[in-house]
Amino acid sequence: MEKPMVSLQRYESSPDSLRELVRLCNGFSELKPHHQVFIKPNLVAMDSQYPMALYGIFTTTRLVQDMVLLLNEFGVGNITIGEGSVRAKHFALPTEGIYEALGYPSLAKRYGVRLLDLLKGPFEKVGFGEYSLQIAKAALETDFFINMPVLKTHNQTMLSLGLKNLKGCLSTKSRKFCHRSDQVLEDHISSFVEKLRPALTVLDGIYGLEKGPFYLGAAHRMNALAASKDPLAADILGAALAGMDAAAVPHLRKYAERHGRSLRPEDVEVRGTPVKDLVKRLKWDNTWNEENTGPRAWERMGLRGVSIPKYDKTVCSGCSGIYGPILTMLMTGYKGEPYQEIEILTGKVMKPSGKARKTFLLGNCMIKLNRRDPGIREAVLVKGCPPTLEDVQKGMIQCGVEASLDVYRMFRDSLVDRYKGKEGFDESLFYLR
Ligand code: SF4
Repeated sequence: MEKPMVSLQRYESSPDSLRELVRLCNGFSELKPHHQVFIKPNLVAMDSQYPMALYGIFTTTRLVQDMVLLLNEFGVGNITIGEGSVRAKHFALPTEGIYEALGYPSLAKRYGVRLLDLLKGPFEKVGFGEYSLQIAKAALETDFFINMPVLKTHNQTMLSLGLKNLKGCLSTKSRKFCHRSDQVLEDHISSFVEKLRPALTVLDGIYGLEKGPFYLGAAHRMNALAASKDPLAADILGAALAGMDAAAVPHLRKYAERHGRSLRPEDVEVRGTPVKDLVKRLKWDNTWNEENTGPRAWERMGLRGVSIPKYDKTVCSGCSGIYGPILTMLMTGYKGEPYQEIEILTGKVMKPSGKARKTFLLGNCMIKLNRRDPGIREAVLVKGCPPTLEDVQKGMIQCGVEASLDVYRMFRDSLVDRYKGKEGFDESLFYLR
């Protein structure tokens, strides 16, 4: 059997590095100038209230621009860029706002590129055996789908590469459906690719993110680019670039099992720069203590009196974006005295332990499941889907935590400051002038 092929390149200049990458994998061999091309970058979500560095979280805008340039050189005149960035009332920009902030309208102006917010639809109901999902028609009906994920780790799925990036083509309702129980997320992520069928995957590893997928992660300048016409092969090499074994990533394993595919990098033909010259081992997860009541780091801090079981796979993106602020408020609000037996429950399936004095229920799913549970002495209901940060703060204060949004802002500033003046961290790769 012929090996699937992936090209690897060190990112050195725009657009030449991408041009060589695409040439090496024959990425445009099926492309015709009259094709309607759809590009799906990863612009997962942008905070509208607090500063946020985009390294390793978003596809670099420069690389998307490079792709548009190459398509333009090829004679393609009909290009759409589509993304459905996660919306959360009061603290996340809509996709159009993100396009605007990053300078995407200049691509629209210069090259006639159409910019779409996929969350606005229209959607098509697509069958996946026993259920169906709503997928944006623009992504389904294109002649040539170019998937442009980022090289990042993910606390629920280990890695977020090409197969995972396709989740951004779903409606919000369908995305939530994918998190309905702790068992199904991997099945879903392994199957979007069977309906969307990217013709080319270009993995942007200019920055790689460990402990991702969002702003709490730590980015590294890696300058790694990978491309393939075979979506699984691109993800296998993406895992290798992150120093991970693709066979350890559940959604890749599920896809490979269904299609009788190997996950060994040796079974992929690599053209261009060897993996060993680009690899950077990325840690993917935060470890929790054995009792599952909080991050291990809290043991070192001596932080006691609170239990927050580790996020499970039922926490969808809206509420998972609040996990960071909750942990931060608990850490920055800690004054050396144990908290008064608080329990914080998240997602859709967690149940109270029966030991807490106050139980903080994050979001409508937890409230619906647990508000009348006899194991709860006093429930603190933080409503919303997802709740706002202000409501989270109020809930924390009700639990006796000195939660301050000013302190939270300082923490967020410090996350951005990590990259300021650091060699290789260049905001102009994200913000087009
Ligand atoms: S409340 Fe949270 S976990 Fe539940 S559907 Fe809304 S965002 Fe998802």
